[in-house]
Formats: sequence, structure tokens, C-alpha cells
Amino acid sequence: MKAGFIGLGVMGAPMALNLARAGVDLSVFDVSQSALARLAEAGARVARTPADCASGADAVITMLPNSSIVREVALGADGAVNTMGGSSVFIDMSTGSVRNCMSLDAALAERGVAFVDAPVGRTPWDAQAGTLLILLGGNEEAKRRARPYLTLLGNEIIDAGAVGNGMRLKVVNNYMTVVGAVLAAETLVLGRKVGLDREVVMKTLTGTVAGKGPINVLYPRKALAGDLTPLFSGALAQKDLLLALELATEEKVSLGLGEEARNVYRRMGDRQMLQQDMTALLPLLEAEAGLTD
Ligand code: NAD
Repeated sequence: MKAGFIGLGVMGAPMALNLARAGVDLSVFDVSQSALARLAEAGARVARTPADCASGADAVITMLPNSSIVREVALGADGAVNTMGGSSVFIDMSTGSVRNCMSLDAALAERGVAFVDAPVGRTPWDAQAGTLLILLGGNEEAKRRARPYLTLLGNEIIDAGAVGNGMRLKVVNNYMTVVGAVLAAETLVLGRKVGLDREVVMKTLTGTVAGKGPINVLYPRKALAGDLTPLFSGALAQKDLLLALELATEEKVSLGLGEEARNVYRRMGDRQMLQQDMTALLPLLEAEAGLTD
């Protein structure tokens, strides 16, 4: 196995080390000299440019901060595509834009190079341990070429389907993570402002649906199972939201997501859906998004 690895940061460095340790003949490239030094110590060949890094490789892997850098590294004047052979595969594991992913796939295909999008879930510790979750999109031949490398980097590969779907899945997943992080912070601020002990709040949140997550506990049993009979009705949910917003107003705390949620429950009421289960939020928002079946 012969690979080029570009982008040796918090995630990329341990991933590249895992490839080197597994015996992959590895070339590496990064704009940071210190990042390169670590990999050189582990026996990797240090390349001068992305094209040099890709020379003779069966697979070129990128783990870079954003899509425009991935594009430059792939297609720029010294880009990897200049030296990649017809049976090789370009594996982008960065988190980036779906649009860039699709146009990169098309540009590489014109030069006969296969492409997969393979962004990762989990943490830098998983990058070290080789236990990343990999979300894979691409055509079957491209995925076949990429898999031997990906299995050295992660312990779970989710085949998301066609090219771009790995990135779409990553963006969808991270939407919930990053907006959920705002909700958690708003909730902790409200708890502190009303004078509650943080440990008591944490114990409560982590032991109820609040922390266990509606996506785990409620949606699979109710809306996703086609059952909107009220386990916890939209009306009760709306009442509890208004109680929290009232408390926040008294305590002069701004709950941005809570205010937006007030609008959503109002629309649920406009459609006479409040007597259904709270998870009827899903068919409401699906209908608003033009999803009718
Ligand atoms: P990072 O900033 O630590 O590393 C990026 C590396 O790319 C750096 O070493 C930098 O020098 C290098 N680089 C920048 N421009 C370059 C160029 N033109 N040519 C070559 N190298 C260049 O970032 P990271 O945390 O390793 O994240 C990398 C990707 O992985 C991102 O897309 C990120 O969203 C995604 N990701 C990160 C995590 C995480 O927990 N850090 C988890 C999952 C996914």
C-alpha cells in the first residue's frame, strides 16, 4: 500500500501515524514544518508539494481545515492531481462543503482519478486509537479502492451511498451537535441564573429526556414509528416552553433557541396539531419543507 497524506494537524497527524505504523509506504505534506518533523521521525517521506506527495501513490488522503484548501491541494498548480495515476483514489476526510465535494469529484473524474468523501465522526483520541467513525460516499469502484486505507483509520464505516453523501451525512450530524451545544449552554445559563446548584442541574439533565435526547428516546417510538398519539402532547410541551421563557424574562436571560421554538409551537397550534404528540413537530416541519409523503 502506498499513500500520500496531506494535512497533519490535530486529527491528521495521528491518522497518518497509524498508516505508517501499519506498514503503508507513506509520503506526507503540510505547510507546517513542525507537523512534518513528527511524521518524518515515524519514517514517512516528507514531500515538498501536494503533487510530490501524491507521486506514485495508490491513495491520497486529505485532512484539512476547509474546502478551499482541499481544492487547492487537489487541483492547484502543484496539486495532487498532476501526479495521480488512473487507478488511484483521492480520499477527502476533511469536513467541508457538499458543493465543493461534488465539483471536486467531477474535476478529478475528468483526469481519470477516483474520488470518495469520507469525513469522520468522533474525536482526536479516536484518530489516535484508529477508532474513527467514517462516513463514506462515492461510486462502488472508488469506495473499493479507499476501503483498505480507511479500515486502518477507523473501526466503523457507514456507507452513505453516492458521492457527496458522506459529507451530507456529516453536515446533518454536526448540525444537531453544534445547535445542541447552544441549547445545552442556554439551559445551563438559565439554571445558574435562577440560582440552582450546577451539580444538581447536571444530575437532573443527564437523567431525563433532556440529556438522553429526544432523538434517542422519543422520535424512534413516536413520530418515526408513525404514532402521534400523545405520550407528551404538543400542548404540554408548549406550556413548559412558556414557563421557561417566563422565568428567563424575570431573570433577564435571553433564550434565543427558546424564542425560535416558541414560533414553531405557535405554528403547530395554527395547524391544530397541539393535541398530538410533541414529536408531531417532525411532520409539521417536514410539511413546511415540502416533504409530503
Ligand atoms: P488542524 O487545524 O489541527 O489541522 C489542519 C492541518 O492542515 C494543519 O497541520 C495545517 O498546517 C494544515 N494545512 C493548512 N493549510 C494547508 C495547506 N494549504 N497545505 C497543507 N497543509 C495545510 O485541524 P484538525 O482539527 O486536524 O481538523 C481537520 C479536519 O477534520 C477539519 O475539516 C475538521 O473539521 C475535521 N474534524 C476535526 C475534528 C476534531 O475534533 N478536531 C473531528 C472531526 C473532524
